[in-house]
Amino acid sequence: MMDKISRVRVSSCYLPLAHPISDAKVLTGRQKPMTEIAMLFAEIETADGHGGLGFSYSKRAGGPGQFAHAKEIAPVLVGEDPSDISRLWDKLCWAGASVGRSGMATQAIGAFDVALWDLKAKRAGLSLAKLLGTHRDSVRCYNTSGGFLHTPIEQLKANAAASIARGIGGIKLKVGQPDGALDIQRVEAVRTHLGDAVPIMVDANQQWDRPTAQRMCRIFEQFNLVWIEEPLDAYDHEGHAALALQFDTPIATGEMLTSAAEHADLIRHRAADYLMPDAPRVGGITPFLKVAALAEHAGLMLAPHFAMELHIHLAAAYPREPWVEHFEWLEPLFDERIEIRDGRMLVPTRPGLGLTLSGQARGWTREQFSFPS
Ligand SMILES: [Mg+2]
Repeated sequence: MMDKISRVRVSSCYLPLAHPISDAKVLTGRQKPMTEIAMLFAEIETADGHGGLGFSYSKRAGGPGQFAHAKEIAPVLVGEDPSDISRLWDKLCWAGASVGRSGMATQAIGAFDVALWDLKAKRAGLSLAKLLGTHRDSVRCYNTSGGFLHTPIEQLKANAAASIARGIGGIKLKVGQPDGALDIQRVEAVRTHLGDAVPIMVDANQQWDRPTAQRMCRIFEQFNLVWIEEPLDAYDHEGHAALALQFDTPIATGEMLTSAAEHADLIRHRAADYLMPDAPRVGGITPFLKVAALAEHAGLMLAPHFAMELHIHLAAAYPREPWVEHFEWLEPLFDERIEIRDGRMLVPTRPGLGLTLSGQARGWTREQFSFPS
């Protein structure tokens, strides 16, 4: 007997951050420090009593737009078989096709898509990683949240050491500020503080032009970095490809792309050694899996962007040893915590994503709609 989607609920929730966050985009004057994250939650229930939880997010503007689009397209799911995820992705996409197959519209779909995969895995009694088919039960992880540019250098060193002490495997430092000498100083200080054995990555958040990226990548070769992330504009595939070809340090990019098609283009240009897809940003797990298949075929390494609570499962299912990004920011939204040990994040074994919305998340919810109402 076919199960049916009986209810869909979308919520707009604003997660406050403990401190205003600055990366290179703030230091070059393009953005204001970030103080909150807009979360779009989708909860799907079926006639047989199964349920799934999914989410998308936006940093700075975009949250109300994602929520508005989700509200408009949610009704097309009611009465459908929740197992037909790929078909339902298409149905959601066509419902809003005139506003495109990337960007904000796709991210609204992402919340439903993640909820449908969560539901399917829960019904199978499997973690999402196991449902997809995993290669490992833990994934090496690195910390990003301690390495932002608003953090003074002494605090940066202390944050990095504290992350390593709690079992996190690597440290990412933000760079890309207008004065490149300060970037070099920070990276050198942390490298000296941690020693040569600790994996360190840097992230310029798209703020270098081609000549600056060329110079900085050459200087950074001496620090034996795991990768240099977003040295150039996210859509400068030729520029990234030239850096990837030229330098020993791997180039990482892909987090800003908002569809599988954009990732296919990036991969075709060989613009990354490490691909960094973000499942909510590309429209959910369904398009993420297409991106991962292309990346594997192209021989790329994988390091999904942000949202470790979701990406731990997707990284576990990638054939080549990936990295997961450790950010504690989303933790207050959920009742569960991910275990970290010996440089690695353990893949949760609870059914589905293994996540329950916390009371705090309910408290931070500003708007909510249910269908049927
Ligand atoms: Mg980044």
